[in-house]
Amino acid sequence: MTLIRLSNIRKSYLEGGVRRNVLEGITADFPRAKFIVIEGRSGSGKSTLLNLLAGIDLPDSGTVEIDGQIINRITERRRTLFRREKIGFIFQSFNLISTLTVAENLRFPLELNGINGGAAHTTVREMLDALALPERAHSFPDQLSGGEQQRIATGRAVIHNPLLVLADEPTGNLDLESELRVLDLLKGLPERHAITVICATHSKEIAARADVVYLLEGGRLHG
Ligand code: ADP
Ligand code: MG
Repeated sequence: MTLIRLSNIRKSYLEGGVRRNVLEGITADFPRAKFIVIEGRSGSGKSTLLNLLAGIDLPDSGTVEIDGQIINRITERRRTLFRREKIGFIFQSFNLISTLTVAENLRFPLELNGINGGAAHTTVREMLDALALPERAHSFPDQLSGGEQQRIATGRAVIHNPLLVLADEPTGNLDLESELRVLDLLKGLPERHAITVICATHSKEIAARADVVYLLEGGRLHG
């Protein structure tokens, strides 16, 4: 079953008056509830592609269809709501909110989706247990190791039960042990929660565990 259908996606950037083509006609179907890896050298356009999938950015032409919605043909407002409800994002640099505690960071996506009070509290508690970090609820991000921060960031990306998790080089700043723990969390999402994971990475550890691996090269996606 297909979750995402990309049809002839093109994306370029204007840089000092020169147009640089980054994605030059990407057509692909991504299945539901699979762990999908996108490899490609630095500068090949992996982040650009993930940002189009998240609806953070728009293609020059082509369509990005997710769960039956062409997300580049809806209003900005609807795209924001779609992203809040259906997508979780994990970044290389963790991107937790430094002024919020771990529990508050986890609670944030729930509140954006209208889940508050006791229900949110219970969900955050359960997530902290699942991440094996129950005692860190009231810590601030900078009191945690990089690996612990990325486990929390992974929890934050999935706590509202999205359809799709986009991970942009999620283990690029981690040691091997931390990488394997984050990888275990990501790998469990398709099987346990029917979440589709699309992960841009250089990591051989991650690629080895993927259900599907694509290579982004020359502006195109090779299966
Ligand atoms: P990757 O994630 O694979 O390293 P990126 O998607 O970040 O690659 O970048 C692909 C190319 O697009 C690079 O040459 C980069 O400089 C360029 N690029 C990315 N974002 C922008 C932007 N907002 N403005 C101009 N150029 C950009
Ligand atoms: Mg990138």
